[in-house]
Amino acid sequence: MRGFLERLQWKLAAWMQGRNGVDGLSNFLMGVGIILILASIVPGLDLLSWFALVFLLVAVLRSFSKNISARSKENEAFERVAEKPKRWFALRHKMWTNRKTTRYFTCKGCGTVLSVPRGKGTLRVVCPKCKTETMKKS
Ligand SMILES: [Zn+2]
Repeated sequence: MRGFLERLQWKLAAWMQGRNGVDGLSNFLMGVGIILILASIVPGLDLLSWFALVFLLVAVLRSFSKNISARSKENEAFERVAEKPKRWFALRHKMWTNRKTTRYFTCKGCGTVLSVPRGKGTLRVVCPKCKTETMKKS
């Protein structure tokens, strides 16, 4: 059994040679497809499973595609669009994990998210971006 699985793995690796493989865009399309499948369980939303099928099919076909330059161009465009939301989620995650040690607030001058350590009294904060000064209770 183990030899069979190893041979299968080698064959798959050889078959994937020269193909695009899974990239960020494919992963995203897979995720959307899976969410649509789960949503299609809700009565009245069963048509969503067809959209899910399209998303999953495109994700799989992209991974097996041999036109790597076209696929990587698509992936680059996707990464450019996805950069801002990714950063937003990363910041929310950081704020959540540091919520006990750090207080976060937005600069009144430019909207940049700033942070001060908690429990240090009232601090004078100078925004590194626009130099706006604020007094902040930490
Ligand atoms: Zn600022």
